[in-house]
Amino acid sequence: MLPIIQHPAAAKEFVNDPNRSRWHDQALWFVRSKRDKQAASLPEWEYLRETASGIKTHTIANLSHYLQEFERNATARGAIVHWARDAEHHNEIVLRILQDHKTHRIVKSKSMLTEECGLNHYLEDNGIDVVDTDLGERIVQLRGETPSHIVLPAIHIKKEEVGDTFHTHLGTDEGASDPKYLAEAARGHLRDKFLAGEIGITGVNFAIAETGGLVVCTNEGNADLGTSLPRVHIACMGIEKLLPRQRDLGVFTRLLARSATGQPITSYTSHFNGPRDENSELHIVLVDNGRSRLRESETFRAAMHCIRCGACMNTCPVYRRSGGHSYRATVPGPIGSVLSPTRDQNSYKSLPYACSLCGSCSDVCPVKIPLHHQLLAWRGELVGKKLLPVSKRLAMRFASYLFRFPALFRMVGKVGRFTLRVLPRWATHHRLNTWTIARELPEAPKETFRDWHRRHRDH
Ligand code: SF4
Repeated sequence: MLPIIQHPAAAKEFVNDPNRSRWHDQALWFVRSKRDKQAASLPEWEYLRETASGIKTHTIANLSHYLQEFERNATARGAIVHWARDAEHHNEIVLRILQDHKTHRIVKSKSMLTEECGLNHYLEDNGIDVVDTDLGERIVQLRGETPSHIVLPAIHIKKEEVGDTFHTHLGTDEGASDPKYLAEAARGHLRDKFLAGEIGITGVNFAIAETGGLVVCTNEGNADLGTSLPRVHIACMGIEKLLPRQRDLGVFTRLLARSATGQPITSYTSHFNGPRDENSELHIVLVDNGRSRLRESETFRAAMHCIRCGACMNTCPVYRRSGGHSYRATVPGPIGSVLSPTRDQNSYKSLPYACSLCGSCSDVCPVKIPLHHQLLAWRGELVGKKLLPVSKRLAMRFASYLFRFPALFRMVGKVGRFTLRVLPRWATHHRLNTWTIARELPEAPKETFRDWHRRHRDH
């Protein structure tokens, strides 16, 4: 678990590396542009978003009904369903299954839920060899890092750095940075791991209450290989991943890939309906971990609609320039800034402020979560609970006082304009003033708007 520090401080290193920050910004903007082209190519795009939002609202409102239906149908198909109240419980359940099968090696496909639960560390501490099989996840795993994006986990790493990592861990040529060569090396390395894996763990993109089936979407096919070689498949899913009917699925698969990477469809959309034969096992772990609490919130419940496409990150001007690790959370970006304070308001109180309120995240969200409105609502909550730093609280109180007394406002304006003209730069750019150190103050205007207006109102 990363130590919790506030977003502006955590973003500093990334922002201070202008080359990386610019390149990260451009790489994600490229993905966002691909998403725009795909969205524009479907005349029914807004209809799909509206429908998806309606299905999610209905499902979350009737969640316990659909969860029970899902459990009934999945069990009837031969799957074994487990319920986990929190991250620790989830990890214990997974470990118990591994121990029952005397497993020492697992292959895991991409799952933000297992990341949220800290499963890798937990299993490694219990003597299990965990291999992430998604290429980006494997890269961050070899580097001892966490994913910085929910769809593109290694987007913060340049290909030269991947070359160094592979040289150290996989023995590739020193200085190699050709993506084709590196991908080939990773493929060979992972093939051995797939063959040695005793149990496959996957996340879940969608689960269907009506059928008891699961759907996992990947672009590398690693979930399929990771579950078709071993005899046992453990699927870990947050309880919000549910859809009521099979026919709802098409709405979401059409939205997911287009929003995530700008592809019309993910390369592999795999359906799991019970264990594949009588010698195999399918375990499904349904995880709450704070989701029921979130469901009770009128203001933030819609955040449960999220299908983890990452579009809000790709478009967010703050995320693109500050990098995913600056959020110090499993899910970064706008949706992470909504979700993280629901878990721990004090630790994540700076995240709702890591937002320009431009509203771009809400515009691209395929399930129409009003993200920037939720971030604004969080600010209101945090202020109400006095979780703003004292310096900001005092400044806001002073501003509110100032706006109530026009004569005082005018006088402070006059002093401010004079001060701006004579203030030496060092007075604002020193370590103790964290607000102005990152900003150039504006040039003082010659006259106030009020004076200008007085001179011009009769013309
Ligand atoms: S909040 Fe919306 S845009 Fe962001 S990851 Fe979730 S579904 Fe995608």
